[in-house]
Amino acid sequence: MIALCHAITIPLAGEPKHNLLVISIDTLRADHLGCYGYPKPTTPGIDRFSRESVLFRTAIAHAPSTEPSHASIFTSMIPAHHGALRAKRMPISKKVVTMAEILRSAGYRTVSFNGGGQVGASYGFDRGFELYESSPGRFSEKVTAAIDWLERNADEEFFMFLHTYEVHAPYDPPAGRLKLFETDYKGALPGVIAPGLLMKINAGELQIDEADARHIVNVYDAGIRSVDDAFGKLMAHLRSTQLLDRTLIVFTSDHGEEFGEHGQTGRHSHTLYDELLKVPLIVRMPGARFASTVVERQVRGIDILPTVVDVLGLESLAQFEGSSLRGLMARKKKDDERVAVSQLDTTNEKPLSAIRSATRKLILGPHSFVPLQPGYQWFKDRVEIVTDARYLMLPMESFHVQRTVKISVDGEFVRQVVLPPRKQVLSIPFQTSEKRVVSIESLTPCTSTGEGLPCVSFRVFNPSEYFRLDDDPGEQNNLFADAAQRADIERLQTQLDALVSSAGAAAEAPVELDARSRERLKALGYAE
Ligand SMILES: [Zn+2]
Repeated sequence: MIALCHAITIPLAGEPKHNLLVISIDTLRADHLGCYGYPKPTTPGIDRFSRESVLFRTAIAHAPSTEPSHASIFTSMIPAHHGALRAKRMPISKKVVTMAEILRSAGYRTVSFNGGGQVGASYGFDRGFELYESSPGRFSEKVTAAIDWLERNADEEFFMFLHTYEVHAPYDPPAGRLKLFETDYKGALPGVIAPGLLMKINAGELQIDEADARHIVNVYDAGIRSVDDAFGKLMAHLRSTQLLDRTLIVFTSDHGEEFGEHGQTGRHSHTLYDELLKVPLIVRMPGARFASTVVERQVRGIDILPTVVDVLGLESLAQFEGSSLRGLMARKKKDDERVAVSQLDTTNEKPLSAIRSATRKLILGPHSFVPLQPGYQWFKDRVEIVTDARYLMLPMESFHVQRTVKISVDGEFVRQVVLPPRKQVLSIPFQTSEKRVVSIESLTPCTSTGEGLPCVSFRVFNPSEYFRLDDDPGEQNNLFADAAQRADIERLQTQLDALVSSAGAAAEAPVELDARSRERLKALGYAE
């Protein structure tokens, strides 16, 4: 804590201190809330709260999974820098300061009632909290514990962090809530959707139809309604005890959930598409200042902590990679574009990184490369490409006739294929990333005459993706290999490289989990 002493100042004497309440509903997609345009009755209580608050229409999470995303909210750093990486089980780096540590050193009481698991104490999330209670259970149980604590400690400034996995799989809404969303489901799926069932569906072992897919979403929505019931109870308590206007309230989530947008259902942690990264962010200022403001501009999880210290009158830390949202809330025009870096960590050396501007997204695979010549290329007899990619995808097409094509790598035969007169995709994986010469040779003589009349064409793909979100919000049309986008892709890539490579905290040793934590993660569907 020594490092904190010079970095943080207590608010100026005479200024009233406001409380801070941060609520994170794990796995809550922004577009399933009424105030974000959802047509079903998931969130009447949160919708009412949003009218007294500032609603950020495009809030981007820094990871599609619980631990790294929450750590970004708590430290204002991207995952590569705060070090809390899910797949490698790394805790928040001890070299960075957390929200609770800042608030506690400013004299706040610091308490949390949360769902544990990936926000458990083992990962360092309890740092700075005098009380950090982790348990499974519905949001209503956290709210009961919160109200109980508030009744006993009403006179002191507090920072309270509430978190629940109620919306996370298993989707298990309380009795009576599902019928608000469906009354006529006749399929075979149960009223509780367990992680094991979702895994079977995603592995293709269990086929579902459209009605089943709708049912799964309805059960998820019913869980949101249950959270909303408890949220309403908490707001009523804050209102009746006059705490509401003396408290800065931040309502958000750590990531969304996929429902079929990219081939999986009831799943997160696996991609960097918007259904996993767009989260709700609703901020109620003390005294409901800036009420009913809607901010369309893109903001990020790392902007939450700088906003908190700004509104509460504390000092910023050098580690902050985000910046305060106060200017946007006050509708001041000038605000730089806030590009969002999101990272999907794996057990590989480097995480998969995405950079998102308001209208573009670039997802850069860990072993990406720029094709020598973007777009489709054609040849008559033989062509060579030099690449250090670990994985090549070659969509090939033979023109006019069926044709035999031979592929060699560094002069050694790899594969021979017969190309029908239509597209066929060849995948060639390599074990390591080093420079190779890949040659593609047509064994069938080319009979086309003249320039511009190809016999065989091919295109080089890799795991990188680029989307124009203004034309393609569903991220279905990967334009990474489109020559017309090259300049923009390179600009985003340079920006991403600079943001990711800037100094971060050194990594800690992986976390050893006790039996209870392992059980908790298993119940949430995380296999060992
Ligand atoms: Zn989560």
